Amino acid sequence: MAALELGDIRVDRVIEEEGPSALPSEWFAEATPENLAPLRPWLVPKAICPDTGKMIIPYQSYVIRTRHHTILIDTCYGNDKTLLSDPRWNQRTGGTYLSDLAATGVAPETVDYVFCTHLHLDHCGWNTRLRDGRWVPTFPNAKYLLARREVEHAEHISRSDPDQVYAESVAPILESGQAVLVEMDHALDDQVRLEPTPGHTPGHVAVRFASRGHGAVMCGDLMHSPIQCARPEWSPVFDADQAQARITRRAFLEACVATRDLVMTAHFPSPSIGWIDPDAGAFRFRYIDGGGGA
Ligand SMILES: [Zn+2]
Repeated sequence: MAALELGDIRVDRVIEEEGPSALPSEWFAEATPENLAPLRPWLVPKAICPDTGKMIIPYQSYVIRTRHHTILIDTCYGNDKTLLSDPRWNQRTGGTYLSDLAATGVAPETVDYVFCTHLHLDHCGWNTRLRDGRWVPTFPNAKYLLARREVEHAEHISRSDPDQVYAESVAPILESGQAVLVEMDHALDDQVRLEPTPGHTPGHVAVRFASRGHGAVMCGDLMHSPIQCARPEWSPVFDADQAQARITRRAFLEACVATRDLVMTAHFPSPSIGWIDPDAGAFRFRYIDGGGGA
């Protein structure tokens, strides 16, 4: 996708992978064939693959260039990571993530800030890379802005997690001195600020941008599929607090209708960016390219 201009902010996406991922019923307890049937006409083929019935899910980073800073939001899975719960990504090598980032005009050393909406395996992997047997920050000159609450949560769950997300992708950042632990409503400057959006994880944040009257928000995993615009009460099995996630999601969607801010999603199918429209007591996602009908 071509870069998006938002006032004087430039937005690019770097996609690590995109394709059919999981059946809706694997993520949402409510996603029975009967419940999905009324949604299918606008979900297929963009958000649900007509052949497999699986949701089309990208794993991606957003590259934000403001007049002050180059910011990377969420860093996908990464290479060489110990992800025993996700065999496809365990000890993965190759891929084109860093060269795709370079194609947007951003070299690792030119990134000023890395934000993680939360610290799940698919959002902080490229925080680090393996060099001579050691995990080192991939972005040597960046400050990594992390919500203190989320770091505490990630450390806590790491004690019973077969994956090594904290040890490989978070702890090395803390040890390098490049981490800046912040509150969940931290403002970086007059254009960029965090917004608390707990539920998926306790320290989950969205990232809001404003420039010349334009507003946008990168919403992380407060929702995973456009299905949840129509059914905001559907919380996926991996929301840490499903009840809180429902409250956060509906409040977020209502605010998006009111502000008309552009929504940059983590996992909605490409182009992943669009607006929230009201629809029959719930919502619809209108993609920025006008396609898909979802
Ligand atoms: Zn995710």
